[in-house]
Amino acid sequence: MENQNHLLRQLPKVDEMMRILQDEIHPQPYLICKRVVQQTITRWRERILAGEIACVDREAIQQDIRRQMQKETAFHLKKVINATGIVLHTNLGRANLSEQAAAYMAEIATGYTNLEYDLETGARGSRYAHVEDLLTALTGAEAALVVNNNAAAVLLVLDTLTKGKEVIVSRGELVEIGGAFRVPAIMERSGCKMVEVGTTNKTHAEDYRSAINEQTGAILKVHTSNYRVIGFTSQVSLQALWEMGCEKDIPVIYDLGSGMLTAIEEMGSVDEPLIQQCVPYADILCFSGDKLLGGPQAGIIVGRKEAIGRMKKNHLLRALRIDKFTLAGLEYTLRQYLGNAAADKDIPILQMLKQSPQMLAQKWCMLTSLLHGQNDLRWEKIEVVSQVGGGSLPDVVLPSVALGISSATYSASQLEEMLRQNCTPIIARIHQACVLLDMRTIDLREIPVIADCLNRIG
Ligand SMILES: *Cc1c(COP(=O)(O)O)cnc(C)c1O
Repeated sequence: MENQNHLLRQLPKVDEMMRILQDEIHPQPYLICKRVVQQTITRWRERILAGEIACVDREAIQQDIRRQMQKETAFHLKKVINATGIVLHTNLGRANLSEQAAAYMAEIATGYTNLEYDLETGARGSRYAHVEDLLTALTGAEAALVVNNNAAAVLLVLDTLTKGKEVIVSRGELVEIGGAFRVPAIMERSGCKMVEVGTTNKTHAEDYRSAINEQTGAILKVHTSNYRVIGFTSQVSLQALWEMGCEKDIPVIYDLGSGMLTAIEEMGSVDEPLIQQCVPYADILCFSGDKLLGGPQAGIIVGRKEAIGRMKKNHLLRALRIDKFTLAGLEYTLRQYLGNAAADKDIPILQMLKQSPQMLAQKWCMLTSLLHGQNDLRWEKIEVVSQVGGGSLPDVVLPSVALGISSATYSASQLEEMLRQNCTPIIARIHQACVLLDMRTIDLREIPVIADCLNRIG
């Protein structure tokens, strides 16, 4: 106790530390500096009281402050290198935009725009008009509307078309999708009454048919992209639901989740639907902007003009609206699709998904050629399988190449952490005793950064 009091008395005062570190601290915001110094001294005080400290080392305290200052003054949201091979990694921000799309967003962000101004008439215009024609041209739908994300799209669609009515949905499609989007929860929020039909593995046309009554507001189909019941299963096709809807005069809503505008042969024969092929069989369809479309985060709604017209008048739209930067990125991405053949080359996630084995091997060689081999890292070429991610089927097989690294000094989890703590964090996965860097999601420009980080381990 006596000793602890003695140590506590030796702790520097906040003002004193601020004075000592003045030159280093000066360029930083004063409030952050003061808080860091206070917190550091408080932490030392706690450690003294906990009996963890035998002597007060002022140099160590200063080092603590410097380290913490560095953390606090660095940007929190920053670029990372995705070496997981998961192309649409929800935690790492899903789809990357192309340089050109980003440059266009920057141009729109740094000046005034005609966001809600009609240049023809000089009067108020609609922010939704900028992409509607592009979306109808690309999908073949009569009308289109964009909101903040696909969860918002589903909410707006149900709130507008089915509030207070019954919505029929298959039990096999009541899914939860990345980031806790739950179909039943969003249905409840929209004020419609969910009527579940069928069972988890089997739902028949007759199940839907017998649930239809005067209260029915819509039939909802959800693309369960991220899971699949295998074996003894059956779901009713969109086309069959559409025919039933026509016969009974009930709208069909299809939540495509991801959806694609262009087929990706490399993904094999997966049942990820092409948006334009579904449009004829649903009144309303919605999908994400930042999944397989490869654009910015957005929820895209396409379908019947009358129904979309009602959504445009729904006050909820104001709360779900898309911002101008996103609109710029989305318009740019959609125009990349219009120049069809170029979409594969220009849209980063399509590029990654369609990468040739030669390209993957070449990146591996490029990376290993930059490793100087002066530390005890061991590396090898490992055949792996990348995942599409973003709620897409987990069983899509995309063969890829990874750099597997291991070391005599560090465990795989220590190596993984060192990569993650890099100035530009490198996110990798561990497989057995190796850390795997999957070449698929690594950009050519990131290779020297990775090599530099690996060369510094030692
Ligand atoms: C991903 C997904 C959503 C949610 O989309 P966000 O753009 O993430 O809001 C909704 N429904 C389905 C079927 C999905 O796959």
